[in-house]
Amino acid sequence: MAARTLEARFERMSVNDENEYQKSKIVTTTTQLGHSTSRPNLYKVALQAGSANTVTAVTLPSQAAQRKGAQPPSPTRKPVASAVSRSSDELALAHVERKSATILIEQPSMKQFHLGMFEIGRPLGKGKFGRVYLARERTSGFICALKVLHKSEIQQGRVEKQVRREIEIQSNLRHPNILQLFGHFHDNKRVFLILEFAGKGELYKHLRKENRFPEWKASQYIAQMASALRYLHRKHVIHRDIKPENILVGIHGEMKVSDFGWSVHAPNSRRATMCGTLDYLPPEMLKPGSSDNSYNEKVDLWSLGVLTYEFLVGEAPFEDTPVMTQRRIARADMTIPSFVSPEARDLIKRLLVLDPEKRIPLEQVQTHPWIVKHCLKGERAANREKS
Ligand code: AMP
Repeated sequence: MAARTLEARFERMSVNDENEYQKSKIVTTTTQLGHSTSRPNLYKVALQAGSANTVTAVTLPSQAAQRKGAQPPSPTRKPVASAVSRSSDELALAHVERKSATILIEQPSMKQFHLGMFEIGRPLGKGKFGRVYLARERTSGFICALKVLHKSEIQQGRVEKQVRREIEIQSNLRHPNILQLFGHFHDNKRVFLILEFAGKGELYKHLRKENRFPEWKASQYIAQMASALRYLHRKHVIHRDIKPENILVGIHGEMKVSDFGWSVHAPNSRRATMCGTLDYLPPEMLKPGSSDNSYNEKVDLWSLGVLTYEFLVGEAPFEDTPVMTQRRIARADMTIPSFVSPEARDLIKRLLVLDPEKRIPLEQVQTHPWIVKHCLKGERAANREKS
C-alpha cells in the first residue's frame, strides 16, 4: 500500500475501528498459530517491502535467548479456547508473544522498516513530543506500539540528544521488566520507534486508581524493579528518572521500565548533570555546582526507595512545596505511616540513606525479608516453569 494512503489511515482510524479489527483478526491468527510451520517473519517482510523513501536501517533483537525472561507462554498452558474470553489487547499480546520468539530467532540483526509495513490502530497515549499507537506488522501479525515523534518538535524542544540517547540505550537492552525497543525508522518529518506493547498501560494510572498498593503487590513490583535496575547497572546504564510515570505494565501485570530519555551510559565516570523529577531526586543530585555534586548508579537506589514508599503510602515521601521538598530530601526527612509493615519500613529506610554508598545494594534488595515474604517463592516457581 502506498505510504500516503497509510498515512491517511493513520489519522483516520478510530479506537472502535481498531477494536473491531483486533476482534476479527487476532482471534483468527491466534488459532492458526499451532498449524503454521513457515510463518513469515519481519526479515522477509523487510525484503518484500521496497518503499525507499521511508527506509532506514534499524537494529532488531537477534538473540531470542537474551529474552529469557520474556519467553512466550507455552500454548499448552494457555489454550486458545480459554483465550477467547480475554480482552482483545490481551489476545493480541498472547499472539505477539508466541510469534515474537520465532521472529526474533529468525532475525539477522540489521533490518529495514518503513511505515507501510504497519497497520496503525488506536492511540495508546500522548507524550510531550508525540503520540503512541497500537500497531500491527502486516505480514507477521506482530503487535507493537509505534511511537511517532515529530522532528520539528524534537528540534524545537532541543531534545535531539535525548531522543538519540533513548534510542541507542533502549535498543541494546533485553530484560523482561524493561520495555523493549525493537527498532526505529524515519521519514522526512517523523521518527518512528517500534516498541514492545505494554498491554496494561501506565503504572501511574493504576496507582492513582488504587490509591496505594497492598504490600504483596508493592513487594512484587519492587522485586521486578530491582531486577531491572540490576540488569541496567551491570550494563553501566543509570536510569536517573525512576518514577511511576515512567513505568508501564505488561499484559500479565509485569513492570516495564520505559523512558530512557534521561538515562546515561556511564562506564566509568560519575555524572554531574541536574535532571529528573524533584520528588524522586536523590540528595546528591540536588546540589548542582557544589563540589560534591557528582553521582553514580546509586541514584537509582534512592529513587527505588521513593517508589517503594509511594507504592505503599500513595504519595511520595518528600511531597511538599518545591523548596520544602528539596530541604526535606537533603535531610532525608520523612515519616512512614504506621500501617506500613516493619519489613517494608526497614527496606525504605535502607534505600533512603543520604550517603549513596551506604544504600542497600540491589542484590540485597532482592533477598530482603519483605521481598522474600511476598514474592520469592512465587518467583522461584515462575522461573522453574520457564526453564
Ligand atoms: P510517552 O511519549 O513515551 O510518554 O508515551 C505517551 C503515553 O503513551 C504513555 O503515557 C502511555 O500511556 C502510552 N504508551 C507509550 N508507550 C507505550 C507502550 N509501549 N505500550 C502501551 N502504551 C504506551
